[in-house]
Amino acid sequence: MKIIKTVSEMQQWVATVRATAQTISFVPTMGFLHQGHVSLLEAGRQRGDKLVLSIFVNPTQFGQGEDFEDYPRDLQQDSQLAATAGVDVIFAPPAKEMYPNGYATYVDVEGITETLCGASRPGHFRGVCTVVSKLFNIIQPQIAIFGNKDFQQLAVIKRMTTDLNLPVEIIGRPIFREPDGLAMSSRNVYLTAEQRVQALVLSQSLARAKELVATGQTAVADIISQLKTEIDKRPAARIDYVQICHQLTLQDQHTVDNDSVLLLAVYIGKTRLIDNGFLLD
Ligand code: AMP
Repeated sequence: MKIIKTVSEMQQWVATVRATAQTISFVPTMGFLHQGHVSLLEAGRQRGDKLVLSIFVNPTQFGQGEDFEDYPRDLQQDSQLAATAGVDVIFAPPAKEMYPNGYATYVDVEGITETLCGASRPGHFRGVCTVVSKLFNIIQPQIAIFGNKDFQQLAVIKRMTTDLNLPVEIIGRPIFREPDGLAMSSRNVYLTAEQRVQALVLSQSLARAKELVATGQTAVADIISQLKTEIDKRPAARIDYVQICHQLTLQDQHTVDNDSVLLLAVYIGKTRLIDNGFLLD
Protein backbone atom coordinates (compact mmCIF):
# COMPACT_ATOMS: atom_id res chain seq x y z
CA MET A 1 0.00 0.00 0.00
CA LYS A 2 1.29 3.44 -0.97
CA ILE A 3 0.69 6.68 0.88
CA ILE A 4 0.66 9.59 -1.57
CA LYS A 5 0.70 13.19 -0.42
CA THR A 6 0.97 15.23 -3.61
CA VAL A 7 -1.55 15.78 -6.38
CA SER A 8 1.08 15.22 -9.09
CA GLU A 9 2.17 11.84 -7.71
CA MET A 10 -1.47 10.81 -7.36
CA GLN A 11 -2.13 11.82 -10.97
CA GLN A 12 0.87 9.79 -12.16
CA TRP A 13 -0.37 6.71 -10.33
CA VAL A 14 -3.88 7.14 -11.78
CA ALA A 15 -2.41 7.48 -15.30
CA THR A 16 -0.55 4.17 -15.00
CA VAL A 17 -3.64 2.38 -13.68
CA ARG A 18 -5.85 3.76 -16.40
CA ALA A 19 -3.26 2.90 -19.08
CA THR A 20 -3.82 -0.76 -18.22
CA ALA A 21 -7.63 -0.34 -18.36
CA GLN A 22 -8.07 -1.13 -14.69
CA THR A 23 -10.97 0.40 -12.74
CA ILE A 24 -10.59 2.52 -9.63
CA SER A 25 -13.00 2.59 -6.71
CA PHE A 26 -12.69 5.42 -4.26
CA VAL A 27 -13.67 6.07 -0.64
CA PRO A 28 -13.30 9.70 0.51
CA THR A 29 -12.91 10.26 4.27
CA MET A 30 -11.54 12.64 6.85
CA GLY A 31 -9.63 9.79 8.49
CA PHE A 32 -9.61 8.53 12.09
CA LEU A 33 -11.08 5.41 10.58
CA HIS A 34 -13.64 3.18 12.27
CA GLN A 35 -15.58 0.10 11.20
CA GLY A 36 -18.08 2.27 9.29
CA HIS A 37 -15.27 3.48 7.04
CA VAL A 38 -13.93 -0.08 6.78
CA SER A 39 -17.35 -1.28 5.56
CA LEU A 40 -17.12 1.29 2.73
CA LEU A 41 -13.60 0.08 1.89
CA GLU A 42 -14.81 -3.51 1.77
CA ALA A 43 -17.58 -2.51 -0.64
CA GLY A 44 -15.02 -0.64 -2.74
CA ARG A 45 -12.59 -3.57 -2.73
CA GLN A 46 -15.27 -5.79 -4.26
CA ARG A 47 -16.10 -3.33 -7.03
CA GLY A 48 -12.86 -2.04 -8.56
CA ASP A 49 -9.45 -3.37 -9.60
CA LYS A 50 -7.76 -0.70 -7.49
CA LEU A 51 -8.99 0.87 -4.26
CA VAL A 52 -8.09 4.43 -3.27
CA LEU A 53 -8.85 5.92 0.14
CA SER A 54 -8.50 9.64 0.68
CA ILE A 55 -7.83 11.05 4.12
CA PHE A 56 -8.25 14.79 4.14
CA VAL A 57 -9.67 16.96 6.88
CA ASN A 58 -11.09 19.50 4.48
CA PRO A 59 -10.84 23.04 5.88
CA THR A 60 -13.45 24.49 3.49
CA GLN A 61 -16.28 22.37 4.88
CA PHE A 62 -15.79 23.55 8.47
CA GLY A 63 -17.42 26.77 9.64
CA GLN A 64 -16.04 29.36 12.05
CA GLY A 65 -15.96 27.93 15.56
CA GLU A 66 -16.35 24.32 14.37
CA ASP A 67 -13.88 21.55 15.21
CA PHE A 68 -11.42 21.73 12.27
CA GLU A 69 -8.38 22.12 14.54
CA ASP A 70 -9.55 19.53 17.06
CA TYR A 71 -10.76 16.94 14.55
CA PRO A 72 -9.05 13.64 15.51
CA ARG A 73 -6.19 12.53 13.27
CA ASP A 74 -4.11 9.32 13.34
CA LEU A 75 -2.55 8.46 9.98
CA GLN A 76 -0.53 5.59 11.43
CA GLN A 77 -3.54 3.73 12.80
CA ASP A 78 -5.54 4.57 9.67
CA SER A 79 -2.78 3.07 7.50
CA GLN A 80 -2.94 -0.22 9.39
CA LEU A 81 -6.73 -0.45 9.02
CA ALA A 82 -6.52 0.55 5.37
CA ALA A 83 -3.84 -2.03 4.57
CA THR A 84 -5.94 -4.76 6.19
CA ALA A 85 -8.97 -3.65 4.16
CA GLY A 86 -7.00 -4.01 0.91
CA VAL A 87 -6.46 -0.35 0.06
CA ASP A 88 -3.91 0.20 -2.75
CA VAL A 89 -3.31 3.90 -2.18
CA ILE A 90 -4.06 6.35 0.61
CA PHE A 91 -4.20 9.86 -0.78
CA ALA A 92 -3.48 12.16 2.17
CA PRO A 93 -2.54 15.61 0.88
CA PRO A 94 -1.76 18.56 3.14
CA ALA A 95 -4.29 21.42 2.90
CA LYS A 96 -1.89 23.60 0.87
CA GLU A 97 -1.69 20.90 -1.78
CA MET A 98 -5.46 21.02 -2.32
CA TYR A 99 -5.87 24.76 -1.78
CA PRO A 100 -2.65 26.50 -2.85
CA ASN A 101 -2.28 30.28 -2.69
CA GLY A 102 -4.70 31.94 -5.07
CA TYR A 103 -7.26 29.12 -4.94
CA ALA A 104 -10.64 30.58 -6.01
CA THR A 105 -12.98 27.92 -7.43
CA TYR A 106 -15.95 26.39 -5.57
CA VAL A 107 -18.80 24.05 -6.41
CA ASP A 108 -22.23 25.01 -5.13
CA VAL A 109 -25.28 22.74 -5.33
CA GLU A 110 -28.55 24.62 -4.84
CA GLY A 111 -31.83 23.52 -3.27
CA ILE A 112 -31.16 20.34 -1.30
CA THR A 113 -28.16 21.97 0.41
CA GLU A 114 -30.36 24.63 1.98
CA THR A 115 -32.14 22.48 4.60
CA LEU A 116 -31.01 20.25 7.50
CA CYS A 117 -27.18 20.34 7.91
CA GLY A 118 -26.99 22.97 5.16
CA ALA A 119 -29.17 25.33 7.21
CA SER A 120 -27.20 24.91 10.43
CA ARG A 121 -23.76 24.76 8.78
CA PRO A 122 -23.70 27.49 6.11
CA GLY A 123 -21.04 26.81 3.47
CA HIS A 124 -20.55 23.20 4.61
CA PHE A 125 -21.81 21.55 1.42
CA ARG A 126 -19.98 24.08 -0.75
CA GLY A 127 -16.79 22.83 0.89
CA VAL A 128 -17.82 19.18 0.57
CA CYS A 129 -18.78 19.51 -3.11
CA THR A 130 -15.63 21.44 -3.91
CA VAL A 131 -13.32 18.88 -2.33
CA VAL A 132 -15.20 15.86 -3.68
CA SER A 133 -15.16 17.23 -7.23
CA LYS A 134 -11.43 17.97 -6.92
CA LEU A 135 -10.81 14.45 -5.59
CA PHE A 136 -12.89 12.93 -8.42
CA ASN A 137 -10.81 14.92 -10.94
CA ILE A 138 -7.51 13.84 -9.40
CA ILE A 139 -8.36 10.18 -8.74
CA GLN A 140 -10.74 9.60 -11.68
CA PRO A 141 -12.62 6.74 -10.04
CA GLN A 142 -15.32 4.81 -11.86
CA ILE A 143 -17.01 4.14 -8.50
CA ALA A 144 -17.17 6.19 -5.29
CA ILE A 145 -18.60 4.90 -2.04
CA PHE A 146 -20.28 7.02 0.64
CA GLY A 147 -22.12 6.22 3.87
CA ASN A 148 -25.87 6.70 4.38
CA LYS A 149 -24.87 8.09 7.78
CA ASP A 150 -24.42 11.45 6.02
CA PHE A 151 -27.74 11.09 4.22
CA GLN A 152 -27.94 14.65 2.93
CA GLN A 153 -24.30 14.59 1.83
CA LEU A 154 -24.96 11.48 -0.26
CA ALA A 155 -27.99 13.15 -1.89
CA VAL A 156 -25.96 16.29 -2.60
CA ILE A 157 -23.07 14.31 -4.11
CA LYS A 158 -25.49 12.37 -6.34
CA ARG A 159 -27.02 15.68 -7.49
CA MET A 160 -23.60 17.19 -8.20
CA THR A 161 -22.38 14.11 -10.07
CA THR A 162 -25.47 14.08 -12.27
CA ASP A 163 -25.49 17.83 -12.85
CA LEU A 164 -21.78 18.04 -13.74
CA ASN A 165 -21.89 14.83 -15.86
CA LEU A 166 -19.11 13.30 -13.79
CA PRO A 167 -18.43 9.74 -14.99
CA VAL A 168 -18.56 8.26 -11.49
CA GLU A 169 -21.08 5.79 -10.09
CA ILE A 170 -22.08 6.87 -6.58
CA ILE A 171 -22.86 4.08 -4.14
CA GLY A 172 -24.42 4.52 -0.68
CA ARG A 173 -23.79 1.99 2.11
CA PRO A 174 -25.73 1.34 5.36
CA ILE A 175 -24.92 3.04 8.66
CA PHE A 176 -22.51 0.97 10.72
CA ARG A 177 -23.40 1.04 14.43
CA GLU A 178 -21.87 0.21 17.79
CA PRO A 179 -23.54 -2.82 19.41
CA ASP A 180 -25.75 -0.50 21.50
CA GLY A 181 -26.99 1.37 18.43
CA LEU A 182 -24.80 4.52 18.39
CA ALA A 183 -23.84 5.32 14.79
CA MET A 184 -20.06 5.08 14.45
CA SER A 185 -18.41 8.45 13.99
CA SER A 186 -14.88 9.79 14.32
CA ARG A 187 -16.41 12.44 16.57
CA ASN A 188 -17.59 9.86 19.13
CA VAL A 189 -14.14 10.11 20.77
CA TYR A 190 -15.10 13.59 21.99
CA LEU A 191 -17.83 12.12 24.24
CA THR A 192 -17.28 11.64 27.97
CA ALA A 193 -18.57 8.38 29.47
CA GLU A 194 -21.73 10.14 30.67
CA GLN A 195 -22.30 11.83 27.29
CA ARG A 196 -21.71 8.52 25.51
CA VAL A 197 -24.77 7.13 27.34
CA GLN A 198 -26.88 10.17 26.49
CA ALA A 199 -25.76 9.97 22.84
CA LEU A 200 -27.90 6.85 22.52
CA VAL A 201 -30.89 9.17 22.33
CA LEU A 202 -30.32 9.53 18.57
CA SER A 203 -30.65 5.85 17.69
CA GLN A 204 -33.36 5.46 20.34
CA SER A 205 -35.34 8.24 18.65
CA LEU A 206 -35.12 6.34 15.37
CA ALA A 207 -36.35 3.15 17.01
CA ARG A 208 -39.14 5.05 18.78
CA ALA A 209 -40.26 6.75 15.56
CA LYS A 210 -40.41 3.41 13.76
CA GLU A 211 -42.44 1.98 16.63
CA LEU A 212 -44.92 4.88 16.47
CA VAL A 213 -45.30 4.44 12.73
CA ALA A 214 -45.73 0.68 13.13
CA THR A 215 -48.60 1.30 15.55
CA GLY A 216 -50.38 3.50 13.02
CA GLN A 217 -49.18 7.03 13.79
CA THR A 218 -48.35 8.84 10.59
CA ALA A 219 -48.76 12.52 11.49
CA VAL A 220 -45.24 13.94 11.28
CA ALA A 221 -45.87 16.84 13.68
CA ASP A 222 -47.02 14.45 16.44
CA ILE A 223 -44.11 12.07 15.97
CA ILE A 224 -41.54 14.89 15.97
CA SER A 225 -43.03 16.47 19.08
CA GLN A 226 -42.88 13.17 20.99
CA LEU A 227 -39.27 12.62 19.93
CA LYS A 228 -38.24 16.15 20.91
CA THR A 229 -39.81 15.75 24.35
CA GLU A 230 -37.78 12.58 24.92
CA ILE A 231 -34.53 14.13 23.64
CA ASP A 232 -34.98 17.21 25.84
CA LYS A 233 -35.02 14.93 28.91
CA ARG A 234 -31.28 14.30 28.39
CA PRO A 235 -29.42 17.13 30.14
CA ALA A 236 -26.43 17.00 27.76
CA ALA A 237 -28.62 17.05 24.62
CA ARG A 238 -29.42 20.14 22.56
CA ILE A 239 -31.44 19.63 19.39
CA ASP A 240 -30.14 21.10 16.16
CA TYR A 241 -32.89 19.52 14.04
CA VAL A 242 -35.31 16.60 14.09
CA GLN A 243 -37.14 16.32 10.77
CA ILE A 244 -38.99 13.80 8.67
CA CYS A 245 -38.25 14.38 5.00
CA HIS A 246 -38.80 12.83 1.60
CA GLN A 247 -35.74 10.73 0.77
CA LEU A 248 -35.12 12.38 -2.62
CA THR A 249 -36.17 16.01 -2.24
CA LEU A 250 -35.30 16.29 1.48
CA GLN A 251 -38.42 18.42 1.85
CA ASP A 252 -40.39 18.17 5.11
CA GLN A 253 -43.36 15.83 4.97
CA HIS A 254 -46.71 16.07 6.78
CA THR A 255 -47.52 12.38 6.69
CA VAL A 256 -45.20 9.39 6.86
CA ASP A 257 -44.97 7.21 3.76
CA ASN A 258 -42.49 4.79 2.15
CA ASP A 259 -40.16 7.68 1.23
CA SER A 260 -39.97 9.11 4.76
CA VAL A 261 -36.59 9.46 6.41
CA LEU A 262 -36.13 10.70 9.94
CA LEU A 263 -33.04 12.89 10.16
CA LEU A 264 -31.56 14.13 13.43
CA ALA A 265 -28.71 16.36 14.45
CA VAL A 266 -28.25 16.68 18.20
CA TYR A 267 -25.45 18.23 20.20
CA ILE A 268 -24.35 16.05 23.07
CA GLY A 269 -22.34 18.53 25.09
CA LYS A 270 -20.23 20.25 22.44
CA THR A 271 -20.28 17.29 20.05
CA ARG A 272 -22.71 17.47 17.16
CA LEU A 273 -23.96 14.00 16.21
CA ILE A 274 -26.19 13.01 13.30
CA ASP A 275 -28.26 9.93 12.52
CA ASN A 276 -31.06 8.95 10.18
CA GLY A 277 -33.23 6.11 9.03
CA PHE A 278 -36.27 5.17 7.00
CA LEU A 279 -39.48 4.90 9.00
CA LEU A 280 -41.16 2.16 7.00
CA ASP A 281 -39.13 -0.85 5.88
P1 AMP B 1 -16.06 11.08 7.46
O1 AMP B 1 -14.66 10.60 7.56
O2 AMP B 1 -16.78 11.10 8.76
O3 AMP B 1 -16.18 12.35 6.68
O4 AMP B 1 -16.84 9.99 6.61
C1 AMP B 1 -16.33 9.48 5.41
C2 AMP B 1 -17.37 8.57 4.81
O5 AMP B 1 -17.67 7.53 5.73
C3 AMP B 1 -18.69 9.29 4.51
O6 AMP B 1 -19.20 8.80 3.28
C4 AMP B 1 -19.56 8.87 5.67
O7 AMP B 1 -20.94 8.88 5.37
C5 AMP B 1 -19.06 7.47 5.92
N1 AMP B 1 -19.38 7.04 7.29
C6 AMP B 1 -19.10 7.71 8.44
N2 AMP B 1 -19.59 7.04 9.50
C7 AMP B 1 -20.20 5.94 9.00
C8 AMP B 1 -20.92 4.85 9.59
N3 AMP B 1 -21.10 4.76 10.91
N4 AMP B 1 -21.39 3.88 8.78
C9 AMP B 1 -21.22 3.96 7.43
N5 AMP B 1 -20.56 4.95 6.82
C10 AMP B 1 -20.06 5.93 7.59
